[in-house]
Amino acid sequence: MALEELYREVILDHYRNPRHKGTLPHAHFHAEGQNPSCGDEFSLDLVIEDGVVAQVATQGQGCSISQASGSMMADIIKGKSLDEVEDLATKFKVMMSIEDGENPVDPARPGAVLGDLEALQGVRKFPVRIKCADLPWATLADALDAAKAAQ
Ligand code: ZN
Repeated sequence: MALEELYREVILDHYRNPRHKGTLPHAHFHAEGQNPSCGDEFSLDLVIEDGVVAQVATQGQGCSISQASGSMMADIIKGKSLDEVEDLATKFKVMMSIEDGENPVDPARPGAVLGDLEALQGVRKFPVRIKCADLPWATLADALDAAKAAQ
């Protein structure tokens, strides 16, 4: 299977079967975001215990890129410390901004653990869709700001 095809399958799987969908009645932090250029919406509930994302739930609607990115993000941040989550957010940002043709995600490099999120790197070719992929991460950044202010 061609890599692009594989990436498309991964994105569609997350879009159709979003991980950690829902809300948390006892969430410590809640954030919402919109991407008006595409009509995407995303909301995030976090329970943070001892500096670790203990529970995460997301809701949203919009295109497959935005919703798949949110599902992948929820999957990867659960159980991670806030520092690790920030590291992942930085890596994701680098991946989405790097010139096409370069691959910043070297599997041999320790800490390069973007997992399914790597499927989104094809979106770089479509600059208008990068905002779709970024929406959940921008929403997460708002929640993390609140979490840090509360520490
Ligand atoms: Zn979108």
